[in-house]
Amino acid sequence: MILITGVAGFIGSNYAHFVAKQHPDYQLIGVDKLTPYSCRDNIRDLEASGRLIFHQVDIVDQQALAELYQKYGINYVVNFAAESHNDRAINNPTSFVHSNVVGAQTILEVSRLHGVKRHVHISTIEVYGEQGETVPYFDESSPLNAKTPYSASKAAGDIIVRSYMQTYPDMDIAMTHCANNYGPFQFPEKLIPLAITNILRGKKALLYGDGLQKRDWLHVEDHCRGIDLVVHCPASSINENAATNPGLLPIYDFSARHELTNIEILQKICKVLGKEFESCVQFVADRPNHDRRYLINPEKAERELGFRPEVEFDAGMEATVAWYIDNRQWWENIIDTTGELAIDWATPSLSK
Ligand code: NAD
Repeated sequence: MILITGVAGFIGSNYAHFVAKQHPDYQLIGVDKLTPYSCRDNIRDLEASGRLIFHQVDIVDQQALAELYQKYGINYVVNFAAESHNDRAINNPTSFVHSNVVGAQTILEVSRLHGVKRHVHISTIEVYGEQGETVPYFDESSPLNAKTPYSASKAAGDIIVRSYMQTYPDMDIAMTHCANNYGPFQFPEKLIPLAITNILRGKKALLYGDGLQKRDWLHVEDHCRGIDLVVHCPASSINENAATNPGLLPIYDFSARHELTNIEILQKICKVLGKEFESCVQFVADRPNHDRRYLINPEKAERELGFRPEVEFDAGMEATVAWYIDNRQWWENIIDTTGELAIDWATPSLSK
């Protein structure tokens, strides 16, 4: 029995499909609050086949979670549930603290009280904050230095997870940080799907500021592969030196070491779509306090878990563009429901 939270989101739904394929004997229980930025259609096929049983639950609802743990005898928990968009966090930071801090602690507490086999918390590269040009990369021992409302809420969640790891060492908690993901089912508010769906609708793809922000990219399937290694790796005892070196905790950072500027990402999308960059892309006002760069070193995951990314970036991006072409109804339904998802930082009063 594996509980996947945030299962109607991008990575949670990809992971549910990954588990359904890799572990035919597992029963999947999926929960999601179904925020306006989620899509239950992502998992309809798994629900229809009975592989996944879905419950609409907010992970801050301890009682509702406890009932699910009790009812299904949950063994494994993978917590993807989070508010995840940096832009929206600027306009509504409170909802980010709700899900990413209070929610992270609440579900840990339910796992503690119900004694699950393993609880995996999914976090992000962004907790390490801004990376100076002289810093080659971040790793598990890097200080948390988040500076945006999204990354600060995730970093606060991380600190709570670390405190549970060290205070309740028998709980068997693990945590991951990952580079930026791309692939199918990503909500069309994020850089890559927003650009693809805008161009497919004859609109301009948007580049914030000078477009030279650098990001580290990993295909979502490789992220799911890494998470699954963490879910199933042998339990490790908490090293007493972890109090001063968090790199010794069961924390794993995932990346394909593939760093690109946002301009390079949009150039690639235009090329795959057979469009001219100059005619399809518009430079617009940057969002406030935008991180310039981050890159993560996956050496620990490679060494301890045997993690190896398998999706080559160009092939992964071509497949992603093809997925948005083939699944136009999926994203058109979302935009019909939510309205346009881009935020105009030049006129903040219009931002939502
Ligand atoms: P997403 O926004 O697509 O999905 C998150 C899901 O969580 C949504 O379906 C949402 O409805 C749900 N949710 C939010 N608050 C909830 C709550 N209180 N209770 C229950 N469900 C709730 O995000 P994603 O990109 O799939 O990210 C999933 C996780 O992976 C997040 O923790 C994020 O920080 C992390 N992460 C994402 C990336 C990336 O590039 N997308 C990279 C590294 C790590």
